Amino acid sequence: MKRNHLIVSTAVFLLLCSSLSGCNDRSEANVSEQRTAVSTKIQGKTMGTFYAVNVVGGYKGGESALTELAENCFKKICDEISTFDKNAELAKFNDFKSTEPYEISSDLSKIIQDTVYQGRRIDEATDITVGPLVNLWGFGINKRNDSAPTEEQIAEAKKLVGFDKFEIRFEGEKSYLIKKDPDVRLDLSTVGEGLGADAVAEELIKQGYKDFMVNVAGASRSYGVNAEGRKWKLGIEDPTSPTPKLFVPICALDKAVTTAGSYRNFFKDEKSGTVYSHAIDPKTGYPVSHKTLSVTVISDSAFEADALDTGLLVLGADKTLEWGEKNNYPLATIEYKDGKPVLRHTKQFEPYLKCGSENKEK
Ligand code: ADP
Ligand code: MG
Repeated sequence: MKRNHLIVSTAVFLLLCSSLSGCNDRSEANVSEQRTAVSTKIQGKTMGTFYAVNVVGGYKGGESALTELAENCFKKICDEISTFDKNAELAKFNDFKSTEPYEISSDLSKIIQDTVYQGRRIDEATDITVGPLVNLWGFGINKRNDSAPTEEQIAEAKKLVGFDKFEIRFEGEKSYLIKKDPDVRLDLSTVGEGLGADAVAEELIKQGYKDFMVNVAGASRSYGVNAEGRKWKLGIEDPTSPTPKLFVPICALDKAVTTAGSYRNFFKDEKSGTVYSHAIDPKTGYPVSHKTLSVTVISDSAFEADALDTGLLVLGADKTLEWGEKNNYPLATIEYKDGKPVLRHTKQFEPYLKCGSENKEK
């Protein structure tokens, strides 16, 4: 989730490949000329970025009904977790300058618990208490400075960061958040896109649709086949290209795919020329500066993948791949090596790279 006026996204090829032509190879393009099914396709803006939905076979009620479905899903999520909209539930909690218990909805409570759980799995590298650092580095509600914050400012903000800086308390059906310091601020932006893709996908499944793709910027959920009757393809974007460019095609195989990148949303310190990305290492207080440019996670839920990807990006490619092998996750990283992007992946990622002959019609 980004500030509203900024249209920045990580995995533009998720959109380009799913909703427009351009990802199929020549033989598939020929097939598509012969037997392309009717589809309802929509695209628009949400969470400061773009979304696209493609329902093969058509959506009842057409584009306007599908747009309403998608935008209702996104609105519910934004009303819960936005830090940019002052009226959102999380933004109100952030503005609550007190250490008294603050009652939150059960839905927000669940998102927080689940994101914390995912963060704990990866050495607390996804840490929703990064809010003060996100603001300090100009990726949140504060106006961005031309230069990086000082070490003192970073040390001050870091005092508010860590899994021990807030608590969730339950009383019967009710959930309460408690800050350890009135200035603690939570940030769930990293899971906004994944939550959005899951919400739309789950609604479509509930309504009985079997062939569709949903993209919310770098998060995607797909099911079944595309309009040409072939399994959906996506692409991981080339993180070194200034314009959207496919780096490697992958088959989605009915899974959620998310990519976190350090290369689209960043700012440049005018004095030093240093580029700072929006993924912040909660342990150092600094945006990631290593050579890992993107991390792609495949999972059953886009939420889970999105909760993991930013933290894994913080950990870097070596630790990401080690964690993926150990925990049986399909993961891919792109690093900058000898002036060019280099892909590495876990062995569990291999089936998703095989979009050739075995990726035939259902
Ligand atoms: P991407 O476009 O790379 O997928 P997201 O929009 O999903 O990124 O998440 C990036 C946002 O997450 C940042 O703008 C910031 O608000 C928040 N964030 C940054 N670093 C962390 C972190 N280590 N843990 C949790 N959230 C973070
Ligand atoms: Mg993320």
